[in-house]
Formats: sequence, structure tokens, C-alpha cells
Amino acid sequence: MIPSINANRLWQSIMDMAAIGPTPEGGSCRLALSPEDARARALFLEWALPFCHFEQDAIGNMFLRRSGKEPTAPAVAFGSHLDTVPTGGRFDGVFGVLAGLEVLRALDDAGVTTRAPLELVNWTNEEGSRFRPAMMGSRVHAADMTLEDALAITDDKGTSVREALQSSGQAGALTPSPRGWACWLEAHIEQGPVMEATDADIGIVTGTMHARYFQLTITGEPSHVGPTTMDRRHDSLAATAEMILAVERIALAAEPGGRASATWIENYPNARGNVSNITRLHCDVRHEHAERAVAMEQELRASLHAIASRRRVSIAIDPYTTFGPITFDAALCRLLRDKAQARQLNRRDMIAAAGHDSVLIAPLCPSAMLFIPSVDGITHNPREYSTKEQVARGAQVLLDAVIELAG
Ligand SMILES: [Zn+2]
Repeated sequence: MIPSINANRLWQSIMDMAAIGPTPEGGSCRLALSPEDARARALFLEWALPFCHFEQDAIGNMFLRRSGKEPTAPAVAFGSHLDTVPTGGRFDGVFGVLAGLEVLRALDDAGVTTRAPLELVNWTNEEGSRFRPAMMGSRVHAADMTLEDALAITDDKGTSVREALQSSGQAGALTPSPRGWACWLEAHIEQGPVMEATDADIGIVTGTMHARYFQLTITGEPSHVGPTTMDRRHDSLAATAEMILAVERIALAAEPGGRASATWIENYPNARGNVSNITRLHCDVRHEHAERAVAMEQELRASLHAIASRRRVSIAIDPYTTFGPITFDAALCRLLRDKAQARQLNRRDMIAAAGHDSVLIAPLCPSAMLFIPSVDGITHNPREYSTKEQVARGAQVLLDAVIELAG
């Protein structure tokens, strides 16, 4: 019996998972290591445990291992993340984890034991909405960040990752470290409009953009909104408003391969009677060609300094993280292409514009990603959607690839 995806079962699992942390508009909110995230993890575990051995590391990454005929052979690993942004949809990350679960279920249905073991992974805090930086679990796993540094990071309420791991019951016993995988695959939604526009069923992700992230601290002087005449102000918030537009202008000038966004703001004293004197802003620049991203950063720095000096405020620009550019494994990309072709699916090569755990895993072992379309390209939004057929096709290509890789 040739293992095949059960489209209804996979769809139902995605819908059942979406019911944890539901938002009024039909999406999901499961911030990393929140009670909702813990419930999602418990449900996932309940589903996977009947045919897997479970291990968890100290940053909460979950590893579900299905044994192979050669139990000591390097495992074929795959998965994604179950956490969401505050305005999350039902598919980002969840699709990759539950498609992986469906791969294991389909193999079980068919009574197939692969030669190499299989490992299904749920990474901790991919989104970075509650604890910065994003992709924290895979970062610590790949030694891109130390466990101690990660545990000490706090959310906006002052709760540390260490406390959140403990209160959510997700602090595992393993020391985070690479697990000697033969290879890594991640299935994910595209989160953009390209596949739908080009009628592609499967996106073969050959690499990622290069992104550079910054925290800006804009400092002026506090004063009274009434008596302080306009010419005497050092208004950090008004200066920041102009900077946000400068970030956008730099991206517009770098199209089609470039993007830039201002995403987060904090303002002091944030009081109605006061001209603001400290404003913090997070922004990023990214481009499919790394050298262009570096050029965008230079442009960004020049415009921010110009705005600051014209508006008589000071600015500190602190880079806090980067990702990519990553080139995924050519042989794995070829395999995914072949498997999509064999199922008569339309496929196209693409570059990932968003951060993914696979970026951190790629230096450790041959890695690749496959995308399925996002309806209207909408993501990080309750309206995020992929059809039951699109979801099933992606999972089937993942299954076909896993069978070939694991023997
Ligand atoms: Zn994701």
C-alpha cells in the first residue's frame, strides 16, 4: 500500500488546533509559552504520542521520533511551529507541524516503517511576538544564541522565558544541541501572493532574503504641549513619524526585491500634556540580494540621521539581529521538484521573504522548504487561508519526499 495523505483528517486537525486560542475574527492567538501555546502543545502530543517517542529540550523544542528499521541511522527531520502572532491565522507554522504529523499517520496507516528514523519538530517561539528575537528555539538549538541568554529574555510584562517555560510546563530535560539529522524539511504557507498569481501548487524554496533588524532610540527633550512654542521643541515622537515614512520610502525604492518595515513603537512619557522625549522604534530592511540589503541599511542610516538633526533630536541605531541569506540544499530542492512533478502539480522556485526556523537549521544539515499558496497572499491575519486541497497537496509532496529520503 502506497502511503497517502488523508486530506480530511489533516484539515480537521488544523481546524481543531485553531480552536485553541481562537480570536473573534476566526484566527488564532497563541503567543509563545502562553497557556494557549501549552494547550496546543498538549493536543499535538496527544495526537503524536501513540506512534512516537517524545523528547523536549530546555528551551521547550519538542521532538517526536518515529523509529526506523535502522534505529541509529541519522533521522530525517521535519516540522515547523505552533505559536502564532497576536493577530494569527490558522495555517502559519501549524500547517508544517500538522502536515508532518499527517506524514507519520499516513505511514502508520500503510504499515510502513522507514529505514531511517523520522523526527517531527515543534520549535519554540518562532514568531518572536512575545519574546524577542524570533526563531528562538531553533536559534538556541543551532547555538546561534546561548540557552542562558534566551532564558533571561523578558516579555513586555517582565516575565522571563525561563519563568514562562516553567509555568507552561515546557522546560524539557535535554540540553539544546543539533541532533545529527540526515536532513531537514519544512512545509509552510507562502504568506505572499506569488503562487496564487502564477497558479503554482507547490513552491520550492531555494533560499531566503537577507534581513537586518534595528532598534532605534530617538531622544528629544520633555516639555509642556501648551507653552512650548513650536520652534523650541525637541519632539521625539514627531521625528519618529517622519522616520517611519523614511523606512517605507527606502523599501519602495528597492522594489521588486526589497522590503522594509517599521513594526513596533514605544513612547515616553506617552502622556497627553507632554511633548514626547524618548521614542523607540523597531524596523528592518531586507532584500533577496544580500549586498542590496546592506545598501538599504546605509540609506536608512543616512536618512534617519538627517531627520534627527533637522528635528533637533538624537538617535541611536542598534542592530539587534539579522537572518539569511540562506541557500537551501540543491539536491533536496531537486527532490521536492521531482515529487511535485510526479504528482502532476504546478511548481515554481521561490525565495522566502520571511524568517523561518529552517534558516537556522540550514547550516547544520541539508535543508529545504516547500510552500503552499496563501489565498490572496494574506497572512498574520485571521483571514489567512489555504484550501483543503492546497494543504493536502503540500503534505503529500512532503510525505513522498520523506519516504524517498528515509528509505
Ligand atoms: Zn511561520
